Amino acid sequence: RVKERGRGNFSFYQPQMSTGLLSRMKLEHAMRQALDKGHMAVYFQPQVHIQSQRIVAAEALLRWTDPDLGVVSPAVFIPLAEESGYVVALDAWVLEQSLKEAAHWLAQGTPVKVSVNVSALEFRQPDFVERLVQVLHASGLPPQWLELELTESILLQDVQEMSMRVHQIAELGVGLVIDDFGTGYSNLSYLKKLPISKIKIDQSFVRGLPHEAEDKAIVGAIISMGQALGLETVAEGVETQQQCTSIAQMRGDYYQGYLCSPAVPAPQFRERLLQQSAQPGHWSLPADGVP
Ligand code: C2E
Ligand code: MG
Ligand code: MG
Ligand code: MG
Repeated sequence: RVKERGRGNFSFYQPQMSTGLLSRMKLEHAMRQALDKGHMAVYFQPQVHIQSQRIVAAEALLRWTDPDLGVVSPAVFIPLAEESGYVVALDAWVLEQSLKEAAHWLAQGTPVKVSVNVSALEFRQPDFVERLVQVLHASGLPPQWLELELTESILLQDVQEMSMRVHQIAELGVGLVIDDFGTGYSNLSYLKKLPISKIKIDQSFVRGLPHEAEDKAIVGAIISMGQALGLETVAEGVETQQQCTSIAQMRGDYYQGYLCSPAVPAPQFRERLLQQSAQPGHWSLPADGVP
């Protein structure tokens, strides 16, 4: 079974990988132990407000470093975790860690939002919203500082149940973000029905900027649509200044990518926020302290 992921990565099921280093079972066994053994960590990648060039959010990205296997990419182990159901445990752990970390950013006087990926299986758990409320409460983080990243496909199955869930989450004050936008389905009607706050333009469209006319047309169209619908846009995978400038000209709101930084360990990201706060002309927060 070949399953295409965004960014041109493939899951573990490619036929040509079957003779690879590891069996699926060995990998899955190692993955299930990695959390308890302390081999998993949540890294944070800055999201930059393009107009001000300030870091205003960070995406939580799971990292697994196995003593024998080395660094295993989430593009490999997340699909495996999704198939085995283990992703529910992983996502719950990442959410908890992310909320704690964001509470720390707030406490150190450098508040930014944290954006957490939620897989379809986790989002569909009947008790997802209930657990979200509990873990938010336990962290002490005001819900306005949390965003959840969903893929379009999540919203297109069990439409009624999922839309109810999305509304419940939005009512909590948690932001809802569509990840990898443009790679999913073409039925966009959910965008006018659901309280979505942001869309993340998939990096496959950003890569060709500013030269590829097709990519430019697609990114420009997504940004215009976002503006018309009151949705903020985040360009993913921005690696060069030229890509950033191109997105700025098209009036995209935010970018994420190696141009600013890859995902880094929590202590490094805290330090980055402290450095930013030492620079002039920043943190223009309203008096209530929420964005
Ligand atoms: P995603 O949510 O679309 O995350 C963006 C991916 O793009 C990340 O890959 C990030 O490291 C990478 N990236 C960021 N900037 C650049 C850039 O400038 N150039 C390039 N080439 N890549 C860039 P990563 O960390 O390998 O994660 C891959 C995917 O795995 C994520 O895609 C997400 O779908 C999934 N994932 C990661 N962590 C979690 C998690 O905690 N839970 C769930 N359910 N999925 C996760
Ligand atoms: Mg994401
Ligand atoms: Mg993405
Ligand atoms: Mg993704």
